[in-house]
Amino acid sequence: MLSQPLQPNGFTFPCLLNRITNSGDAEFGQMVHAHVVKFGFWGDGYVMNGLVHMYLSFGEVGDALRVFDGMGERSVVSWTTVISGLARLGLVGEARQVFDRMGDRCSVSWNAMIAAYVKAERYKDAFDLFDQMREEGIKIDKFVAASMLSACTGLGAHDQGQWIHKHIEKYRIEVDPKLATTIIDMYCKCGCLEKAQNVFKSLQNKGLSSWNCMIGGLAIHGRGEEAIELFKEMERSMVPPDDITLLNVLTACAHSGLVDEGQYYFDYIVRTYNIAPKMEHFGCLVDILGRAGLFEEAKKVLNKMPMDPDARVLGALFGACKIHGIIDLGEQIGNRVIELDSTNSGRYILLANLYASVGRWDDVAKIRVLMNELGVKKEPGWSVIEFDGAINEFIAGGMSHPEAKEIYAKVDEMLDAIRLEGYVPDIGGVLHDIKEEEKENPLHYHSEKLAIGFGLLKTKPGETIRISKNLRVCKDCHYASKIISRAYDREIVVRDRNRFHHFRGGVCSCKDYW
Ligand code: ZN
Ligand code: ZN
Repeated sequence: MLSQPLQPNGFTFPCLLNRITNSGDAEFGQMVHAHVVKFGFWGDGYVMNGLVHMYLSFGEVGDALRVFDGMGERSVVSWTTVISGLARLGLVGEARQVFDRMGDRCSVSWNAMIAAYVKAERYKDAFDLFDQMREEGIKIDKFVAASMLSACTGLGAHDQGQWIHKHIEKYRIEVDPKLATTIIDMYCKCGCLEKAQNVFKSLQNKGLSSWNCMIGGLAIHGRGEEAIELFKEMERSMVPPDDITLLNVLTACAHSGLVDEGQYYFDYIVRTYNIAPKMEHFGCLVDILGRAGLFEEAKKVLNKMPMDPDARVLGALFGACKIHGIIDLGEQIGNRVIELDSTNSGRYILLANLYASVGRWDDVAKIRVLMNELGVKKEPGWSVIEFDGAINEFIAGGMSHPEAKEIYAKVDEMLDAIRLEGYVPDIGGVLHDIKEEEKENPLHYHSEKLAIGFGLLKTKPGETIRISKNLRVCKDCHYASKIISRAYDREIVVRDRNRFHHFRGGVCSCKDYW
């Protein structure tokens, strides 16, 4: 075109820049940028947005911001392009600075920033911004609703999630299949399976993603049989499953200890629907077999996998070795897993625990030294409980809550009460369980115990206490929660990293299988 007596017009560059963005050719992009200047498109908003978007997608933040700051009139699209682009690069703080500089903000811009926080798992910031948005009288559209539902899902904030769901119904916000799935997912992950099922049942057209979501929801609540039933219903409704369905059905079997069913559905779904199983499917199958103590079968799966098992697949078998006290195989696989996944503190600690279980304290110490040398950090644990529309966050031994004094007093009272019921703290676990929470914090003040204490302090007798936690529940907290549920006659629902625990009358729905 350049060699012809033709001039590029306002459509030429946006198309071209879009194409370059997709191709990833940064050098060519700069060349075209020069032509933009040369042909006098400097003031064209569309062209400039294209350039900003291109530079951001290449990670060239400086160039992107230079173009953006040089623009005369900046539309909502320009601002949103920058905010979303920065967020995609993980520069959430920078995105917020741009957002704060923005004059006229519509729901699109608010959503760009809220979505940025949700993506970065900064849920509390998302909530704060959402509150600010409502204070400014901005209408909640379906995109903001979806982002905030995801924030609620992330935190396990049921009341807030329900508020948004009601708002959607009240203002007749269009519920497309995507939003419907987001609502179902929120209820599942906030511990309200019945509400999720109600929304699911009310859907006119159930798409693949909503079936998957509902099966996955039943799976994490340990309701394996119902998940399988729902899968059969899905087949009867002529919705062909995909690889996510397969994973969710397998997860359902894993969380409910359904060994035969797990093996059966793996083969059945793969063969019937011609789905190529991926790493995570094999991992799930190994988990099912390993937990049941079927080590030979699990090893057979490893051998017939078409790819080399990764740290997660081997990690599943490693975890099973710990459960069944298989020391030699555990040690062998544990070392291999650590080699593959050297930054994950959980792997080291599981191996240390394995050694500790047979009194090999020297080896335990060696792992500690290794972790220190490699600078492997433990992920800090937190638990969250909602009360009266506010999110209360706890970290182990933390004192930042305004009512910390009362909460600690309640926790002490709670521990005294359960001791009378026969609770003995898992002292041996103090060393073992440092995997999930900081070692220096006493076992008593693990974040979920503080959250339960807060729940007992604030809620009325008979009310369910709902907590969500970013890590796996430790053995001692699990044991304590069971006895608390009996001593205080309360249902306690804890969502941990992997699944839900419904504590009631001294037992847990996971049947101590987690
Ligand atoms: Zn704990
Ligand atoms: Zn449990």
